[in-house]
Amino acid sequence: MKEEISGIHHVTAIATDPQLNVNFYAGVLGLRLVKKTVNFDDPGTYHFYYGDELGTPGTILTFFPWRGIRRGRQGTGQATVTSFSIPEASLGYWIERLTKYGIDYDKPIRRFDGQVLAFRDGDGLMLELVAHAGEQRDGWEQGSVPGEHAIRGFHSITLCVDGFEKTAKLLTETMGFRQTGEEGNLFRYAVGDGGAGRQVDIRCAPGFWQGVVAGGTVHHVAWRTPSDETQLAWRAWIAALGLNVTPVMDREYFHSIYFREPGGILFEIATDPPGFAVDEPLETLGTSLKLPPWLEGSRAELERTLTPVHLPEAMPTAK
Ligand code: ZN
Repeated sequence: MKEEISGIHHVTAIATDPQLNVNFYAGVLGLRLVKKTVNFDDPGTYHFYYGDELGTPGTILTFFPWRGIRRGRQGTGQATVTSFSIPEASLGYWIERLTKYGIDYDKPIRRFDGQVLAFRDGDGLMLELVAHAGEQRDGWEQGSVPGEHAIRGFHSITLCVDGFEKTAKLLTETMGFRQTGEEGNLFRYAVGDGGAGRQVDIRCAPGFWQGVVAGGTVHHVAWRTPSDETQLAWRAWIAALGLNVTPVMDREYFHSIYFREPGGILFEIATDPPGFAVDEPLETLGTSLKLPPWLEGSRAELERTLTPVHLPEAMPTAK
């Protein structure tokens, strides 16, 4: 009996301007910037990680800001919507907050277990806040949003695929998910206790245009596994399905393998350890540029290349 995936580990998306990205996610959404590093595969550009106070797996949204990258397009073969979890009573707070910062949102709708507030970041990335009962995680108390209303981490991710069967089969027959709901062309799956961060929705969109991964779109979705041993087992299982899977890559804060699921979306399986406190104290996470050992020799050059970014001192001014 193989182990199941323990939920979403992180979601990685593509942004344009690094400072505007920090202003929006650390400022408006009140997430903690838990790591400021570079893209290990393109070290002349940043890689930002936002999360809860500790950067707990299941709370981490990461960005590759590539200035000047063209805008992508949401469509099939993509994770199209990243949904965060907020307490049931916080919906009103967030409507007021988005209004205050001049961010357009759709009128909240009820979907499955929650009230959904949909909006986009400045690059067009589709986001949702899902207000629902049963969120157990604490909010970060030191962010720009009061702890009681703070984003708790992921609620779910929406995968948009042309035909849902092959993707659904991978989720249920290999990754340990079970179907828990269906509304129109939306199919919900859950793993473990099925709580926030352990849910995925498949939107079946046959004939819909194909997505283009570029600015304002999700690059990949990473799933959690507890250890290096379980990751190696996953690698073998995925290879046995006939899918191309990468060797284990050292991402400094976790270890990763990548493969493309049959619907075309890039999946990663990432280990929970070692986490973001491996190279800086918890108190000062995200405040200075961190580089992996193999890039420390290039620090001076990288610091010249990268435009400095700063945390929003006060909340960004409403437009
Ligand atoms: Zn990743």
